[in-house]
Amino acid sequence: MNLENVKRVDPQIATAIEAELDRQQNTIELIASENCTSLAVMEACGSVLTNKYAEGKPHKRYYNGCEHIDVVEELAQKRACELFHMDHANVQPHSGAQANMAVFMATMKPGDRVLSMDLSNGGHLSHGSPVNFSGLYFDVKSYGINEYGEIDYDEVRKMAIEHKPKLIICGASNYSKIIDFKKFREIADEVGALLLADIAHIAGLVAAGLHPSPAGYAQFVTTTTHKSLRGPRGGIIMCDEQYAQAIDKAVFPGMQGGPLEHIIAGKAVALLEASKPEFKEYAAQIIKNAKALAQGLMDEGLDIVGGMTENHLMTLDLRKTGKTGKDMANVLEKVGITANKNTVPNDPQSPFVTSGIRLGTPAVTTRGFKEEDMTEVAKIIASAIYSSDNEVALNNLRDRSMKLCSKHPLYKEN
Ligand SMILES: *Cc1c(COP(=O)(O)O)cnc(C)c1O
Repeated sequence: MNLENVKRVDPQIATAIEAELDRQQNTIELIASENCTSLAVMEACGSVLTNKYAEGKPHKRYYNGCEHIDVVEELAQKRACELFHMDHANVQPHSGAQANMAVFMATMKPGDRVLSMDLSNGGHLSHGSPVNFSGLYFDVKSYGINEYGEIDYDEVRKMAIEHKPKLIICGASNYSKIIDFKKFREIADEVGALLLADIAHIAGLVAAGLHPSPAGYAQFVTTTTHKSLRGPRGGIIMCDEQYAQAIDKAVFPGMQGGPLEHIIAGKAVALLEASKPEFKEYAAQIIKNAKALAQGLMDEGLDIVGGMTENHLMTLDLRKTGKTGKDMANVLEKVGITANKNTVPNDPQSPFVTSGIRLGTPAVTTRGFKEEDMTEVAKIIASAIYSSDNEVALNNLRDRSMKLCSKHPLYKEN
């Protein structure tokens, strides 16, 4: 990675960036929402496009000199529509949360009712958490998951009939089963609600055709671009043609000023990459790796919420080990594995402590991990949990993690 100019101008920042690169290279990244984007994406994001103001949309800008920016943004829009089979795409949201905010703004007035998945059951902050705009300005009813780690569609239907929401949201930050978009649409139609599918986590799997698509079911589809889709940090909103104008107005001038066109260029590159056969193979390997990891952990006597995963992630349920998510996430960090603590259904611990750890495979799959590597990762995780107080054992486990990292180098220029 070329940091020549940063090094010259700002050595402190250069040092921090280099240290972060080293951390990424020498850590097994199992945070389910993270990934390692391509050098092509990073170059686009680091380009001169960052200099340009381009409020408005292609060919309808408030600033002059946008002819090349228009090419970039139109390519990103076209690729998003083709990849996800949707009519319209707005590629300007700065993040996934802002993409959702724009859908709220385009479809509801403050005080209107929304039905979404509860945060502690795997939903996202921006789906109606009381500390988020969505919960502060809207009337939120939430559904959860059952003891099998699944959405109970009969329960969702009952709640929809009882509460008559204007908008129903499906899609989660921590859900390991296939989402039935068709069922959600039937429920939404039955009560006259609109459906938003937030595919932030599973976008890469949907793009590869390895998770059912919400196209044809959800009027609105939001996603982040930096999770399994492996692009730069950011969001995209897609929708049926009839809502295109409302969505575009909600993004600008509703919530944002100038779009980040350098990031939009990175999104365009990532969308192109995601349309290639190699990406299908990559996404298939993400799922194979998640299944191998889950199987490995269960073989070591650990519990997974809902049992075998159907996508890229899972939650380790630590209740029977007597350990907490907070402590074990810190122990994993000691052995070279990054993951985040997470609540499990009916968690006896507070959301700050938790009894679970969320694990995902998009990032390690990018650096080339295969099933046998995931089995080794499962053994390292289990041993770390079982011998969390034994510093010698933890040091040995860290060596095993480092072996896997050097077997599958990341961002090594050749
Ligand atoms: C990650 C995520 C988001 C938010 O993305 P940010 O870019 O962090 O704002 C929204 N929805 C879901 C389901 C997510 O998992």
